[in-house]
Amino acid sequence: MKITVLYSGNYGERVLNTILEKFAQNIVSIHEIPENLPEYIDDVSEYVPENLKESDLIISVGLFGDINLIVCDIVKKTNAKSIIIESHSPKQVTKGLKSEISNSLNGIKIVFPKPFCSLKPVDDKYIDEFAKYFGSPEIEIIGETIVKSVTVKRNAPCGSTKYVAENLTGYSLNEVEFESGNKLHNYPCLASMDVDNELGDTILHLAGYKIKEAVKKSLRFSNKILTVTADCKGFECGFKCYKICPVVKMGEKAVEIEKTHANINNLFCGCCMKCVDICPFNAIKVLNYKI
Ligand code: SF4
Ligand code: SF4
Repeated sequence: MKITVLYSGNYGERVLNTILEKFAQNIVSIHEIPENLPEYIDDVSEYVPENLKESDLIISVGLFGDINLIVCDIVKKTNAKSIIIESHSPKQVTKGLKSEISNSLNGIKIVFPKPFCSLKPVDDKYIDEFAKYFGSPEIEIIGETIVKSVTVKRNAPCGSTKYVAENLTGYSLNEVEFESGNKLHNYPCLASMDVDNELGDTILHLAGYKIKEAVKKSLRFSNKILTVTADCKGFECGFKCYKICPVVKMGEKAVEIEKTHANINNLFCGCCMKCVDICPFNAIKVLNYKI
């Protein structure tokens, strides 16, 4: 697989350095795009890099606003079949911009992960090859009551999963879920702390939910369990919990609808409590567990 990388700013540089660890042989061209360009640009052609090479996958990281439209020209010049454009900040790639890019690229598979660590396989040869190694974090925690070691199966594209894994050894299994969120902040995760209107939460929080999901999946255990009681009347409320859940909006099954009833999948749930607060029938209860 041949990859072209477009990057901008500190976040772009960090991702580039992380993915080079695995894909150095595959990356055929790297182009730094200037930071702080205007949000709206009439004609992006002057920013299209020279010396582009034939590629299968284009990865765009850290580009803000209309400059993202350069992928449309770059696809034509590289014959790329697949594109990943990440967002780690609200308004980085607006809904309108996504439509504009998608509509002008017929037959090209394109994904817009927000945050980048929410990337999953999408049944596309090239995106899935990348997503084997980078995207939604996956780890294996070894230890009976204390963490002895943590193996990274899939790293976040910014490298945060590796950092978190290296710093969890010695914690009790009860603490790991909480500590993984702390370590992500310490890395530091560069995702925005502003609320993203599409997701209804900050992208930084969403990244935190992803690393906690990886911990919970490895331990098969969650410190906090949300459960929906028989008081749920989904048809009456219009499934408010499902509609408000930021993890659902990110593309994960934190809330599932079963006929007239909602269920919460605690492996995905980030415990933001938005569903608890909005439920008109007070049907979502919170239980605390320890191993
Ligand atoms: S749990 Fe509450 S908010 Fe969710 S579907 Fe049931 S009644 Fe509605
Ligand atoms: S607490 Fe509710 S709204 Fe928040 S992530 Fe969990 S299921 Fe979604």
